[in-house]
Amino acid sequence: MAANKKQNAGQTSLHKVIMVGSGGVGKSALTLQFMYDEFVEDYEPTKADSYRKKVVLDGEDAQIDILDTAGQEDYAAIRDNYFRSGEGFLCVFSITDSSSFDDTQDFREQILRVKGVDSTTAGSIPFLLVGNKSDLETNRQVSQADAQQFADKMGVQYVETSAKTRNNVDKVFYDLMGMIQQEKAKVVADSDKPDKAKTGCSCIIV
Ligand code: GDP
Ligand code: MG
Repeated sequence: MAANKKQNAGQTSLHKVIMVGSGGVGKSALTLQFMYDEFVEDYEPTKADSYRKKVVLDGEDAQIDILDTAGQEDYAAIRDNYFRSGEGFLCVFSITDSSSFDDTQDFREQILRVKGVDSTTAGSIPFLLVGNKSDLETNRQVSQADAQQFADKMGVQYVETSAKTRNNVDKVFYDLMGMIQQEKAKVVADSDKPDKAKTGCSCIIV
């Protein structure tokens, strides 16, 4: 463990987050609110972009890299490359649009397929289900209970946000980064463990 700490000294960790979800749900608005503390009403809907920001996570300097996808990834190969490069996913729908909620299932499945995990190991992929536009309560089409039930079924956390009022915006990004960091720590811990298979094998040879 100490060796690993030393290895990482002077090197800030970088967490790669991908925004997924159908068009118009607020992926760009959430990203820009997190990045620049402002609500952008009319961000170009076809534009995918990436952003980087310094953050402090658990008292340590870190960086977040956000890829804001735009649904123009017509070629599955491009989309798959995006998903493959991601370490964590904010899967966004709008609480005012039930079809965007239905779409989240496809996004989830695509991510798990690209990451090569099945439902038993899906917990290793940092993923949050985000119901955005919580300020538009009067236009709600997806109940909190339905979204929560779906999240429970997938074994993920559900959080409602508003890119307009900034409600829970920091929370979803920081919660996800925390999950990514935990997964990375697990991988390091696993690689620290003595390889029992190898030890056993060399004993036999000796
Ligand atoms: P994207 O296609 O998922 O990137 O969606 P955008 O971020 O471009 O947002 C689509 C529209 O919804 C824009 O007009 C935004 O201003 C609006 N919008 C996004 N998030 C919110 C929100 O939390 N509340 C409200 N009221 N409008 C939002
Ligand atoms: Mg956008």
